[in-house]
Amino acid sequence: MAAATPMPMLHNLGSINLDHVYRVPHLVTPGETLASHAYAVGLGGKGANQSLALARAGGRVCHWGRLGRRDAWARDTLADAGVDVSHVSLVDAPSGHAIIQVDDAGENAIILYPGANHGFDGATLEALVDTAAPGDWLLLQNECNGLAALLALAAERRIRVAFNPAPMTDAVGELPLSACRLLFVNRTEAAGLAGLPVDSPSDALLDALATRLPDCELVLTLGAEGAWYQAGGERRHQPALKVSAMDTTGAGDTFIGYYLAALQRGATVPDCLAQATVAAALAVQRPGAAAGIPTADEVADFLG
Ligand code: ATP
Repeated sequence: MAAATPMPMLHNLGSINLDHVYRVPHLVTPGETLASHAYAVGLGGKGANQSLALARAGGRVCHWGRLGRRDAWARDTLADAGVDVSHVSLVDAPSGHAIIQVDDAGENAIILYPGANHGFDGATLEALVDTAAPGDWLLLQNECNGLAALLALAAERRIRVAFNPAPMTDAVGELPLSACRLLFVNRTEAAGLAGLPVDSPSDALLDALATRLPDCELVLTLGAEGAWYQAGGERRHQPALKVSAMDTTGAGDTFIGYYLAALQRGATVPDCLAQATVAAALAVQRPGAAAGIPTADEVADFLG
C-alpha cells in the first residue's frame, strides 16, 4: 500500500512575546507611581498565538522565532502544544514583550517592545526558504523584521505565502504583496491597504483589495459580523456565531490558525471558514489570547 502523503508543513516566521499583565485601579498618569494589585506573565505575540492555534487545530507547524536566553519556557510552551520549535533560537537580546496595564473598568494601555523579534538576519531567511519543501506554506505577521526580503525570496522559490499584516503600519503598503497567496485582514488592516476610511462598507474594502491584489485569496474578518472570503470573482460571507463575548483578544489569531490547519488537511473554503468561525467563537468566550484558543476536539464537538 502506498504511504499517505504527509500534510504540507506550515513555516511560521513570527513574533514570540512575553505579556506582562498588571491589574491597576486606573491607567497610570504622567509622573505617577502606581501600585499594581495583581501581576501575571504569559506567552503572547501574534506569531506565537497563530502557531499555538495551528497546533491545537491539529495542523503541522514549524515556528521560526527568537527569544532571550532566560525565556526558554516560552519555547517549551509552544513545543508542549505540538509546535515544531527546532528553529526557535535563544539569543543574547531581550525577548519581545508587552507591558500591559488593565484597569478595573477593563480598559488597557500597552507598551510593546519588539526586542529579539526584530533580529532576524539574512542567513535565517535563506535557511527558511531552503528548508521549505514543495507545497509547504509560509505564514507571516507584521511583528518581525525581514518581511520584504522574505516575501521576495518566497516569490523566487514559489513558496505559498499567507500573510496577516497585523499590526497595520504604513510600511505594509511598501511590501511586495503580490508574493502572497492568501491574505488575512481585519477591518483596520483592510482599510489601511485599500487606502479607504476604516468605516467603509465591506464591499468597498473587498473591491479595492481585489483591484490591488487580483491574484490573492482574501479573508476579511469583521468581529461579530463574521468574515468574508474573496478570490477571483467569488465572494462568500460566513456569519459569526451569536455568543456572549468576554475577551476578543486573539480572536483573529485563533481564526487564522484554524483556517490554515483545515486548508492543510485539504478542506474546502466553506469548511475552512466554518472551522475557523467556531474556534474563534469559542475563544472569545474565554479569558486570555493564547489560553483561550480551543482544542480540535472542542471545535469538533461543537460542529457535531
Ligand atoms: P485580534 O486582533 O484581537 O486577534 P482581529 O481584529 O484580527 O482580532 P476579528 O475580526 O475581531 O479579528 O475576529 C476574527 C473572527 O473571530 C471573526 O471573523 C469571528 O468569526 C470571530 N469573532 C470575533 N469577535 C466575535 C464575537 N463578538 N462573537 C462571535 N465571534 C467573534
